[in-house]
Amino acid sequence: MSQPSASTSRSLLVLSGSVALVGWGVGCLALCLTLPTLALPLAIGLGVLLAVLAPGWWLVAVRLDRRHRSFLLGEQDRRNRLIVDTAADAIVTFDYHGRVESFNAAASRLFGYLPDEVIGQDISLLIESTSGSEVDSFMRKAIRTGSARVLAPGSAFQGRHRDGRAIPIELGVSKVLDQDRHVYIQIIRDLTEREQVERHRLLHVEVARLLGGDGPVEAVGSGLLQIIAEAFGWPAGVLRLADPEADELRVAATWVRDLDDGLVDQAWLAGVGQGVGLAGQAWSCREPRHADAGLAWPVMLADEVLGVLEFRAAAAMPPPDEAIARCLMPIATQLAQFTRRWRDQEALRRAKEQAEEASRSKGEFLANVSHEMRTPLNGILGLTEVMRTEEMAPAQREYLELVESSAQTLLGLIDDLLDLAKVEAARMSLDVVKFQVRQSLEPTLRTLAVRAGQKGLAFQWLIHSDVPAWLVGDPLRLQQILLNLAGNAVKFTASGEVQVRLAVADRTSREVMLHGSVRDTGIGIPREKQPQIFDAFYQVESSRSRRYPGTGLGLTITAHLLALMGGRVWVESKVGQGSTFYFTASLGLPEVEVSADAVPAPGDNALRTPPLGKKLLVAEDNPVNRVLLDLILAKRKHQVTFVGSGREALEACAAEAFDLILMDVQIPEIDGLETARQLPRQGKRVPPIVGLTAHPSEESRRSCLDAGMRGYLTKPVQPGELLTVIDELLRS
Ligand code: ADP
Repeated sequence: MSQPSASTSRSLLVLSGSVALVGWGVGCLALCLTLPTLALPLAIGLGVLLAVLAPGWWLVAVRLDRRHRSFLLGEQDRRNRLIVDTAADAIVTFDYHGRVESFNAAASRLFGYLPDEVIGQDISLLIESTSGSEVDSFMRKAIRTGSARVLAPGSAFQGRHRDGRAIPIELGVSKVLDQDRHVYIQIIRDLTEREQVERHRLLHVEVARLLGGDGPVEAVGSGLLQIIAEAFGWPAGVLRLADPEADELRVAATWVRDLDDGLVDQAWLAGVGQGVGLAGQAWSCREPRHADAGLAWPVMLADEVLGVLEFRAAAAMPPPDEAIARCLMPIATQLAQFTRRWRDQEALRRAKEQAEEASRSKGEFLANVSHEMRTPLNGILGLTEVMRTEEMAPAQREYLELVESSAQTLLGLIDDLLDLAKVEAARMSLDVVKFQVRQSLEPTLRTLAVRAGQKGLAFQWLIHSDVPAWLVGDPLRLQQILLNLAGNAVKFTASGEVQVRLAVADRTSREVMLHGSVRDTGIGIPREKQPQIFDAFYQVESSRSRRYPGTGLGLTITAHLLALMGGRVWVESKVGQGSTFYFTASLGLPEVEVSADAVPAPGDNALRTPPLGKKLLVAEDNPVNRVLLDLILAKRKHQVTFVGSGREALEACAAEAFDLILMDVQIPEIDGLETARQLPRQGKRVPPIVGLTAHPSEESRRSCLDAGMRGYLTKPVQPGELLTVIDELLRS
């Protein structure tokens, strides 16, 4: 409600007096008119009365007005004081010399002083010394100019509390003239809360950055503890993660400001159970736990406690107020999400590792088993080959051929299994050698033609004239692809024909993309089963497996080999009409194309007399293989010394000189590769070494050559091949 001003009340008083006088005058005038004889004395009396009463009345009015005004001023003063005292901002007034004259309640709350303790003191008492000079100059300017100004609004500027603590404040000064004297008014705003909100915002940004990446909780944990603890001025923190299996909270990360302050002991770093200590309690009751010693905050997702953050205070930990809760709650949630994500990733990684380990073990198992199987097969095949040249009854020859073909089938199966193990362990690699396309593929195609002929099938092949004579790649794997596709075509066709074609689909200066097709008039493959035939061990009709023997591995391996060659394989087929398998493969072009005529014709070597009667050392521990090698080498009348280990081979070479060494790579004591490496250290001339290995791969070929061997043969050893290599090396 608005108050009437002093002049208004005075006017009202004068007006009411005047109305009374006029009323009285009008009354007298009416009396005069009714009684004319009394007119003169009444007029005189009225005049005297007016002359006496009017100034008195005026004086009364003025005094009354003054009293009313001072009442109103007192009222305003009281109200002003009330406003100042209840203001949210601290208001301090001081004189020209900087002495405090008044200090409101908010100032008492902010600085911790009673007004009596500050009034008369220098205003600098309330300012932190580091910012004193800044305030001084600001204040001098404000005193000089008298303009109301705010010092560095929004900047962190420090006041000093009675207990010595710095308080972030914002400061404004203005000057007023009071009874011929200047008074300076300082309005101070407490920025503690605003700064805290900003600090927490920055803290959350930093936490989000830390928890934004992946990586184990352990790796980001101490950084996280540090930024939280430093934001609240706590000297130590620990992050414990719940291990549900052990029913224990395990320390995942710690942070300590100063190791020497004795805050961290063994107990702090030990695992804790449910309900044990602050952390254990926060875990079991799923709520923050507070004590003088510290504060434990559960890291939760939905209802599950994934861990607990625990902090220690330097003296007594203050109970968590709303600001701490507002800050820690979202951090704990983020940390919980991070922990869950990391745990899920860990579980996946472990599962993957286990799967890889299992696959590695399977691969190693297959490699070992295939080696163990190859060794006796080597003996069987080698000896059958040797026996072929001998006289025998027709029935015996037939049995021998059956033994040989069974052994070959077994060998094919072992090779497929080994290839599959390599594919699954992603260890399949291709040779990169220059080879003659027709010379390396045609023998395979001729063998297939013979097989087809035996079934009464026509077999045609065409290697188009645009296919270069020489290519760079893996000829053995290319043969294997043709053998698989055309072998299947022959196998699954009862009558009709099989056609194999190879042409160039595309060509650059450095490579050609070959396009091949294998067409048959066989049983065909149902449309819905066509995609599955490329899966390992898949056979369209397993009941047919008696009629059509096989393992279901050929197409899987073919598809992988073609993928490694930058190509692919696909099929078009109709049940009862036949199938066509198409494939593409990218092969390199030799830098200089060699004309086929420049290559020595096979058999050239055969015209020359093979070296006879040389001294050979054979390092081989398997007795069957020893017999086989002895039989083969006897053809050249070589003198053969057998040893059964790498150590014995070294001893034999130290004792006498040999013309050539045949070295099984997997021999006892010192393996073949190491033996080859050690031989030159004996200081004698090292004869050419031919390595024998059960692993037909580029990797084992390279390791033989790297160890100093001159030749390399895979088991089962073909007698002709072995003799050719030995003859070559003995001649060189
Ligand atoms: P395998 O021939 O040893 O069984 P593959 O992986 O080579 O294994 O072939 C998988 C399956 O695909 C075969 O069992 C057969 O059911 C089918 N298949 C492959 N080639 C042909 C073909 N030319 N005609 C009919 N079916 C075929």
